[in-house]
Amino acid sequence: IKKIGILTSGGDAPGMNAAIRGVVRTALTEGLDVFGIYDGYLGLCEDRIVQLDRSSVSDIITRGGTFLGSARFPEFKDQEVRKKAIANLKKHQIDALVVIGGDGSYMGAMRLTEEGFPCIGLPGTIDNDIRGTDYTIGYFTALGTAVESIDRLRDTCSSHHRISVIEIMGRDCGDLTLNAAVAGGCEFMIIPEVSYTKEDLIEEIKLGFAKGKKHAIVTVTENMCDVNQLAKDIEAAVHHETRATILGHVQRGGSPVPYDRILGSRMGAYAVELLINGHAGRCVGIQNGKLVHHDIIDAINNMKRPFDMDLYNTAKRLF
Ligand code: ADP
Repeated sequence: IKKIGILTSGGDAPGMNAAIRGVVRTALTEGLDVFGIYDGYLGLCEDRIVQLDRSSVSDIITRGGTFLGSARFPEFKDQEVRKKAIANLKKHQIDALVVIGGDGSYMGAMRLTEEGFPCIGLPGTIDNDIRGTDYTIGYFTALGTAVESIDRLRDTCSSHHRISVIEIMGRDCGDLTLNAAVAGGCEFMIIPEVSYTKEDLIEEIKLGFAKGKKHAIVTVTENMCDVNQLAKDIEAAVHHETRATILGHVQRGGSPVPYDRILGSRMGAYAVELLINGHAGRCVGIQNGKLVHHDIIDAINNMKRPFDMDLYNTAKRLF
């Protein structure tokens, strides 16, 4: 291969810029040309493709988001639309594509590979919900942001003897919530991996106050319930003022923590190495501290994400 393309797709995540830089600088070092594609699959279909040089990725390792932009583009599920994308790549004589994104972006990369255009997927999302990797690019930065927010809410909850219900991102994955809860000293959690009832939760909170707690923090993964309603129900049952806070997109922004910069850099370099060695249709992961690659289709269809039940049980014992 001589020319590679790179795009970021789906929800943005801190460290995506480090990954782009990792790809661009490694590829240039190896004598390849690199083309940046703006706004994900949308820009690919609209032929917004520009050649990148070393300085294109200067001063971006510290920045959150993605300088290439990202987009949701459901039309990419249509094969006719993808034909146009492949034609644009061929027009620029691009031989292979690196896609940084989540599950949905992987599906797009898988389809392109099946249709004859080799792609490599890198896991970029704060949700840590990608199969075939222990950690995704952006997760540790978001975890830091969530913990900082919990710390701030704890100060004010403690002063006012209040209960705080905090909604944390993660889609169908409780990693961000569980780990933020442990680091933030919260015993009450609602996460997708563990079934719960509102009645049990309320009993636990009451027990906490009976043990002498002066305030309480409940962390909830997004989409698990309506946190405003939950706060009302807790307040009615426990007779303590209860407020809900949805952390929302603040968790997606900010300068990436060192680990995300390192992970993005390593995975970016590894993606180029894989392409040079003739691999395609692979997704990159880090498992037990080592970089690995899996078949994208197999990862999406067959791999399961391990859930750290030990950590959950530890958290419950800190009550
Ligand atoms: P993420 O990559 O963060 O999971 P999305 O699920 O929104 O985010 O996916 C990002 C983009 O990937 C979509 O907007 C679409 O362009 C493309 N995509 C998602 N699913 C498919 C699919 N089944 N086939 C082809 N492209 C897809």
